[in-house]
Amino acid sequence: MSLDTDFERLTLALEDPFTIARGTQETAENVIVRVSDGDHEGIGAAAPSEHYGETSRTVEAVLPDLLAVVEEVGDPHALGRIERRMREAVRDNPAARTAVSIALHDLAAKRLGVPLYRYWGLDPRNTPKTSFTIGLDTIERMREKTESAVEAGHTVLKVKLGTERDREIIEAIRAEAPDVRLRVDANEAWTPHEALSNIDVLADFDVEFVEQPVPAENSRGLEYVHERSSLPIAADESCVTLSDISHMAERADIANIKLMKCGGLREAKRMVHAARAHGLEVMLGCMIESNAAIAAACQLAPLLDYADLDGSLLLADDPYEGVAIRGGDIDLAGVEGSGTGARSDDRP
Ligand code: MG
Repeated sequence: MSLDTDFERLTLALEDPFTIARGTQETAENVIVRVSDGDHEGIGAAAPSEHYGETSRTVEAVLPDLLAVVEEVGDPHALGRIERRMREAVRDNPAARTAVSIALHDLAAKRLGVPLYRYWGLDPRNTPKTSFTIGLDTIERMREKTESAVEAGHTVLKVKLGTERDREIIEAIRAEAPDVRLRVDANEAWTPHEALSNIDVLADFDVEFVEQPVPAENSRGLEYVHERSSLPIAADESCVTLSDISHMAERADIANIKLMKCGGLREAKRMVHAARAHGLEVMLGCMIESNAAIAAACQLAPLLDYADLDGSLLLADDPYEGVAIRGGDIDLAGVEGSGTGARSDDRP
């Protein structure tokens, strides 16, 4: 079989500038990857993160080598072999490898005429709601964003923290949304001692869990916080690939797995199962991503305890449609057609 491949950079405008403890972004660059067998086309996307050493340019630089592997193997169902050979060809660059992995999974499921979750044998009715992220801003703006999210039907919010005014932020948001499930993400901004005193305050506002309280390089600090914390701890920046999972058992309660960190859908599934084997709960997160990638992440939803798959919801305009998300409900059972559910009006 011969497979055709191509890729294209997309600059995506955000609905609002997105600020976390580390900085602000106003646009997101994704790289769309397509793999075609002549009858069906698989679509995927990379959402590179500079925090993990990638940009759209590094993705574009390595994609020719990755797609050469795909064309050489020539069988979109040889997913394990292709992911392994891509990892051998390009060791880092997980978002670039993920884009290809997604496109291949989309193509493989389309060739069989089934949605990807069905290809994996997963139950589409059993999906957690996704959280919707409230980025850092003035307290008034964060309150307004909370109000609109609640109006849009969201019942699970993830609030970015890591500022001098964390207490005021959570107080304002809790007052605006007394009934939502609230999670917070400090994106590494606190010291272990700050984390513990902040967590005590957050517990009073009925926060569900706290994500990445301290820097990833401070693994003993994370362990220290985890041992003493009154709230569950989720690890994100500390939990990147499969080899991190065994360490997380001592340092966190929840593993936040992301396709763009780990390098592919098969690797993400391995991380889910490894996390469970180590007694961790599992969350699947995302970067700011087009539905060309989010639709694939949604296919894993039946395996999760928590979903944080709002990447496309933060965009002003996504050229791709994907799995419908309404009020945080991931409508996997409603996916029409086959593959991941990602599609574009321009390219049916
Ligand atoms: Mg995070």
